[in-house]
Amino acid sequence: MDLKQIGEFGLIDLLKKDTIHDPTTVVTGIGDDAAVLLASPRQLQLLTTDMMVEDVHFSLKTTTPWQLGYKSVAVNISDIAAMGGIPRHAVIAIAIPPHINVEFITALYEGMKEICHEHGVNIVGGDTVSSPGGLIINVALLGEVEPTYLLKRSEAQIGDLVVVTGTLGNSGAGLELLSRGNWEEYDFAWPLVTAHLTPRPQVKAGRALAVAGASSADDISDGLASEVNEIAAASKVGMRIYADRIPLADALKEAAAVVGKPAVNFALYGGEDYQLLFTISPARYSAALAGEAGIALTVVGEVVAPEEGIRLIGADGASSRLIPGGYNHFR
Ligand code: ADP
Ligand code: MG
Repeated sequence: MDLKQIGEFGLIDLLKKDTIHDPTTVVTGIGDDAAVLLASPRQLQLLTTDMMVEDVHFSLKTTTPWQLGYKSVAVNISDIAAMGGIPRHAVIAIAIPPHINVEFITALYEGMKEICHEHGVNIVGGDTVSSPGGLIINVALLGEVEPTYLLKRSEAQIGDLVVVTGTLGNSGAGLELLSRGNWEEYDFAWPLVTAHLTPRPQVKAGRALAVAGASSADDISDGLASEVNEIAAASKVGMRIYADRIPLADALKEAAAVVGKPAVNFALYGGEDYQLLFTISPARYSAALAGEAGIALTVVGEVVAPEEGIRLIGADGASSRLIPGGYNHFR
């Protein structure tokens, strides 16, 4: 159905069903000039936003609208997870070009509502406008964290371990396979493509690390190399990362062999994994591990004095400067 047939307000009416998962914190959701929310007492409020632009962040040739909706909320939830927080309320603005129909937007919202449902996030408002060019989706997300659990980038301490959740590089390899077009020929491709199109934000892990007393955290949106540099710069420390300790999935190794690139490069420079990178003292780390066996954690390095810089140590012991290599919009 063409959007002209139902108009802006008809569309908003369609979208507003099933948007509230935690009614106890919403006084007014979609339907007034602003959402009215009940904040929890003694919690810090976290507020983040991320924009997705057609042909910059996604291609409609390789994503379904459902996957696009899921991911556009996932990347925001990931930022809340990296602060040790719990995601609560989202507002969603969309600029819709003429080539997009009602069914597309409905499917986009189904994907958004699915991940919001998984994390108990309410969609409490937004904005709907027309776009002369590409599709643009902007999600703003409000979260909460107890002051003692807040995870900043700037508190890494010399002597801490550098740890990551999950495996890294899958999303970057998935993107490479998607852009080659023939990924369905490879039986290892599915988990990689899925990691790219519908990333899973690590809220549970973020909470567990916060409770265990991690000193700093960042979500891995631009590749491990970039995030390591972010934490090191914010905390004014050096870091040593051991290349052969970076957790890589078997599927990634198979894909890397096919495309002829080192698997570890996808982890270091690929981006969009939305796993967490964090630092924690060795004493607290063992305690955290014992309590949270369900979360995959890998120690990839250690925090060192700032004079040592940010180093990547190869399997042969050779050390080189670890230079951020993720995507940069204006370069
Ligand atoms: P206003 O003109 O007062 O800003 P709108 O007519 O734009 O209000 O929106 C009406 C209601 O619908 C508001 O509550 C707004 O937050 C909500 N809304 C508009 N677009 C969206 C959207 N894409 N997703 C979710 N809620 C939306
Ligand atoms: Mg108004």
